[in-house]
Amino acid sequence: MDNNNDKQLKGFNNFSKFLLIYILIAFFMFYMYQYFTTQQSVEISYSQFKELINKDKVKSCSISEKYIKGIYIDKNGKKRRFITVAVNDPDLIKDLEAHHVDFSGKITNTWLTNLIFGWILPFGFLFFIWWLMTKKMRGTSGGLFGFGKGRFKVYLNEKPDVKFSDVAGADEAKQEIREIVEYLKDPQKYQRLGGRAPKGVLLVGAPGVGKTLFAKATAGEAGVPFISISGSEFIEMFVGVGASRVRDLFNEAKKLSPCIVFIDEIDAIGKSRAFNSLTSNDEREQTLNQLLAEMDGFDSSKGVIIMAATNRPEILDPALLRPGRFDRQIIVDKPDVKGREAIFRVHIKKIKISPDVDVKKLAQMTPGLVGADIANIVNEAALLAARENRDAVYMEHFEEAIERQIAGLKKKNKVISEEEKKRVAYHESGHAICAYLLPGADPVHKISIIPRGLSALGYTQQLPVDDKYLLTKEEMLDKVVTLLGGRAAEEIIFGSVSTGAQNDLSRATDIVRALITQFGMDEEIGLVVLEERSGGRFLTSEGIISQDNKISERTKQLVDEEVAKIMGECYAKAKELLLTHKDKLKMLASELLTKEVINEDELKNIMEGDNGD
Ligand code: ADP
Ligand code: ZN
Repeated sequence: MDNNNDKQLKGFNNFSKFLLIYILIAFFMFYMYQYFTTQQSVEISYSQFKELINKDKVKSCSISEKYIKGIYIDKNGKKRRFITVAVNDPDLIKDLEAHHVDFSGKITNTWLTNLIFGWILPFGFLFFIWWLMTKKMRGTSGGLFGFGKGRFKVYLNEKPDVKFSDVAGADEAKQEIREIVEYLKDPQKYQRLGGRAPKGVLLVGAPGVGKTLFAKATAGEAGVPFISISGSEFIEMFVGVGASRVRDLFNEAKKLSPCIVFIDEIDAIGKSRAFNSLTSNDEREQTLNQLLAEMDGFDSSKGVIIMAATNRPEILDPALLRPGRFDRQIIVDKPDVKGREAIFRVHIKKIKISPDVDVKKLAQMTPGLVGADIANIVNEAALLAARENRDAVYMEHFEEAIERQIAGLKKKNKVISEEEKKRVAYHESGHAICAYLLPGADPVHKISIIPRGLSALGYTQQLPVDDKYLLTKEEMLDKVVTLLGGRAAEEIIFGSVSTGAQNDLSRATDIVRALITQFGMDEEIGLVVLEERSGGRFLTSEGIISQDNKISERTKQLVDEEVAKIMGECYAKAKELLLTHKDKLKMLASELLTKEVINEDELKNIMEGDNGD
C-alpha cells in the first residue's frame, strides 16, 4: 500500500488551490490597504502636528475618529504625508481655520474598514468553509473528496509507472489479468472483437503479497489511471455518506475512463450479513448496496474496471461475487522459494550490494514471508550497512535484517517452526500419493506447504479431469482414502496425528454419510434414502434435509456404525498404500520441504522415478 507518491484525487487539489488563492488575495488586499494608508506616511505626535499647524506647514488634512492624516511641507520644502493619532481637542478646528488648512471629516472611514476586515472577510471565509462542508454532507456532486487536510486515502495516479516487471513472481495471476489489460487498452475495440466486457476482479491473498502492487501494475501496463481507496476508511471517514461517496467515486471514475478503481480491504464493506448479525450496521449495508447498484448500473463499454482486494474471501457477501460483479477471482499466493528470490532481485536493484550476497540463500532463509516482508528486509539491510558506513550492503546485513523481520513476525505468531513445516510436508505428501495412486481420485494439480491463511498450513489442489455428474461407489471411496491420506502419513512418520487433519476428517465423513444415506450404496442399510440434498453443491454438507422423523433410532445407530466402519476401512487402506510407498512418501516430502510447491509433472517424476517402487 505505498501510495505515497500518488497524487490525491483532483477534487481535493482544486479545493486546496482555491483556498490558497482566497487567502492570498485577502492578505494582498489587506497589505495594499495598509500600504496606501500608512506606509508612506510619517507618523508624528499630536503636539508635533499642532506645531506644524502653527508654523503654517500643514497643507491639508482629513480627520477621522481615530486618526488625522494629511500633507505637510517638510524642512526641504517637500510635500509629505503624515499620520497622527486623533486627540479630543476642541480647539483643533479653530486652529485649522486660523491657518487656512484644507480639512475634511472622515468618520465613515474606520467604520468601513472595520466592517470589511473585522466582519465581512472572516465571516465570508467561515461561510465558505461551511458551504463546502455541507455540500459534501449533502453528497451532491462536484469537488470529490473535498474537505480535510490530507487525511483521505483516495488516490489518483494518472499514469502509474509500475509495470508487471516490478511485480516478481505471480506469473499465473499475470496470465489471468492479461485479458483485462487488453480490454483497458481499447474497450470498444475489445468488444467489437467479441470479448465480454469484464467488470470486477477480486484479488485474494494474504496481506503483503502484493495485491495493491499488482492492481497498480495492471493500470501501468494498460496505461490507464489508477484510483484507489481502502474499504475500512471508506466506512470510517464518511460516516453517514458512504453511499453517496460510492456514487461520487464512480462518477469520477467514469470521467477518467478507461481506468481502474481499486478498493483495498473490501471485506470492510462487503462483509456478509451472516458474519455481522450481532452488530447490524446500516451504514455499511447502504454503502454495499450502492456499490452493487453502481456495478450493475454502469455500461461496461465505458471501460471502468473495479479491482478489489481481500484476504478473507469467505466472509464476503455472496451478492458481491455474482456474475457481472466480482465474478473473476485471482489468487495471489504467498511466494515460493523461486518467487521470493525474484522479489529479492526486484528490490535489491535499488541498492548497492556486495558480490558476497547470495540471493538464492536469502530466499531459502525466508520461508513463509511475503513481498512486503522482503521489501522491509532489503530496506533494513541497507540501513544497517549505512549505519556502519560500509561501501555496499553485505550478506551479514541481510542476515541480520532477516532475523529481525522473523523475530517480529514470530511475536505475532505468523511463522511456523521447522518441526511443523516437516509435519505439513508429510501430511500433504500423503494426500498427494493417495490421489496419484487411486484411479477414482481427482488428479493432483499442485501441492504446497506455503501457509495460506489461519487454518490451512498447506494444501493439495486436485482438479477433476472433467465435470462429473455420476460418481461410482469406488470413486467416492477413493476420495475418502485420499482425504485420510494426510493423517495416515503423519501417523506412519511421526507415530502421532495432529489437529491439522480436522477439515479432512469432516469432509471424508460427509462423503461417507452421503454414500449411505443419500445414494443407498451401503449393503447393511440398503436402498433407502434417509437424507435429501436441497440446492447445496454436490458432496457438501450444506442444504441437507434430514428425514429425521421417519428414521428409527435403530437405523440411526446403524448408520453411525456403518460410517465408522467405512471410515476405518478407508483409513486402513490409506495407511497400507503409504506404507508400501514409504520411500516415495519420504522423497516427496523432502522435495516439498526444499521447493515448497510441487506441480503435477514434478509429482509424476517422483512417483515414476527409478529408485524402487
Ligand atoms: P497487499 O496489497 O497484498 O497487502 P502490497 O501490494 O501493499 O500488498 O505490497 C506491499 C509492498 O511489498 C509492495 O509495495 C512491494 O514493495 C512489496 N511487494 C509485495 N509483493 C511483491 C512482488 N511480488 N514483487 C515485488 N515487490 C513486492
Ligand atoms: Zn489434509
